[in-house]
Amino acid sequence: MTAKVLVAVAVLVGFVLPPTAGAQSMPGRTMVKIAPDVYTMTGAGSNAGFVVTDEGVLVFDSDIRNNDLPFIRKVTDKKVIYLFSSHASGDHSTGAWYFREDRPVYIGTRDQIRAYYQVELKEFNERKAQGLPLYKGAELLPPSLGFDGNMTVVFGGLTFQARAEGYGHTSGDMTMYIPQRRVMFMGDLLNNELHPGQAEAGGVFFANIQGTIDILNRIIDRNLPVDTYVPGHGPVHVGRGVQDVIDQRDYFIVMRDEVAKMVMAGRTLDQILKEFKVPQRFAHYDHGRLAGILRLFYNQLIERGL
Ligand SMILES: [Zn+2]
Repeated sequence: MTAKVLVAVAVLVGFVLPPTAGAQSMPGRTMVKIAPDVYTMTGAGSNAGFVVTDEGVLVFDSDIRNNDLPFIRKVTDKKVIYLFSSHASGDHSTGAWYFREDRPVYIGTRDQIRAYYQVELKEFNERKAQGLPLYKGAELLPPSLGFDGNMTVVFGGLTFQARAEGYGHTSGDMTMYIPQRRVMFMGDLLNNELHPGQAEAGGVFFANIQGTIDILNRIIDRNLPVDTYVPGHGPVHVGRGVQDVIDQRDYFIVMRDEVAKMVMAGRTLDQILKEFKVPQRFAHYDHGRLAGILRLFYNQLIERGL
């Protein structure tokens, strides 16, 4: 089954709602129900998700560019009790402000908290100082709870297994597995139908290609009973299971191999950027972020030999 067909299935199985009038979210933002009580917001910027329980709502990822609260309010009036951030990138960790009235417990990895104080808060306040309307009156709230390794939250009759996966897309990527719903939120460790971001932070930190491959292999090797792995970017493929994770793992291996062949043939980075042909298997991916990830493959091959 092609990816496009799967998206259509997702729309049929769940449902898609427009945001409420006046809400701050980017055009094209839609909500897809991916399992009972589990929803993904997608279609504009980064993806986010939320889970409704009898005891309240758990939100995974938030972005100042997309106020997802109106989507949640379409489904339930219950309060947001927990907010998680998959990693310290602005498109996944800057929207806590929208949930401030509910005062959720905001949880990230310890790396997330470190990044907040080292980079994120400064960047956020710089943008705010530029007078961008989006940031008017907004604050970047810090996580209130951090962890290394694993954290299990038992909430509303469900088990939320958060895991600090290590240095892949960023220096601290978190996933969240919900066994009773056969769903796993992947953050930017998974991108469907588009090239992954290079995860630049402060001009210093970038995604780690080999680290990402290692993390994806470990997730595949867990053989978890998961129907849907939710990507950080791109459409969610409801019911496609681990194949999405395999495709993402293979993407990094195959693409790096192609870049390495061009390096061996004496091509410079500029030539690679100009001449690179995306292998057939990934040729349908949106090209928007291709140059950034090619630079990363090249630089890490030269610098680290991986
Ligand atoms: Zn992202």
